[in-house]
Amino acid sequence: MNTILNLEEVSKIYKSGDRSLTVLDKISFSIEAGSTMSIVGPSGSGKTTLLGLCAGLDRSTSGKVELHETRLDGLSEDQLAAVRNQYVGFIFQNFQLLPTLTALENVMVPLELRGEKNIRPRALDLLDKVGLAERSHHYPTQLSGGEQQRVSLARAFSNRPQILFADEPTGNLDAETSEKVVKLLFDLNREAGTTLVVVTHDLDLAAKTQRIIKIKGGKIISDTQTQ
Ligand code: ADP
Repeated sequence: MNTILNLEEVSKIYKSGDRSLTVLDKISFSIEAGSTMSIVGPSGSGKTTLLGLCAGLDRSTSGKVELHETRLDGLSEDQLAAVRNQYVGFIFQNFQLLPTLTALENVMVPLELRGEKNIRPRALDLLDKVGLAERSHHYPTQLSGGEQQRVSLARAFSNRPQILFADEPTGNLDAETSEKVVKLLFDLNREAGTTLVVVTHDLDLAAKTQRIIKIKGGKIISDTQTQ
């Protein structure tokens, strides 16, 4: 197996004053490059926390997280950001578009961070791919939820990530838009070989992925191959 992500005994404990909350308790699993996977479980079970640790957005309290053979724990913030820019795309539950930038400028941000040239036509091309070329000069507040989610997809695709993490990508969308977004995610997996890791409550979406991990009380309670 060609592993893109490997977790060994990863725990996350939130501390506040003298209280501590173990959100993830010695989680271990590996993800095969090019595969699709979903993480499901009740609200508050630690899915978003787990996704953040896998993507290098947050740090574990203990254990080992290896992305593309790079051990993330122990890296400085700058090094972590460099790994994210190089390998990772992330779609946030609440989109997290920059409100003062247009749709096009939001998509250009990761390309600028990578120091790439000629980024405007590439960003426009990405917006076209998600069906939003004619909305490129709109600001996030001028876009519907579904449109904002598609801009955030275009932004996440822009650095051609080897692994894409999506936190409830269809959570705030109507059925029709949700179908479009899911198609874009799976097209990216098929066409570019991007590994897809999705946190979702949507069991139809989970069933479309090759593997479903269920977490509860900070532990993996099942790990199922669907196909
Ligand atoms: P899920 O995505 O499964 O709903 P989360 O990962 O968002 O779960 O949260 C898991 C638990 O961790 C919840 O009890 C939540 O309140 C707690 N939690 C999440 N982030 C923080 C934080 N930054 N500080 C303290 N507790 C947190």
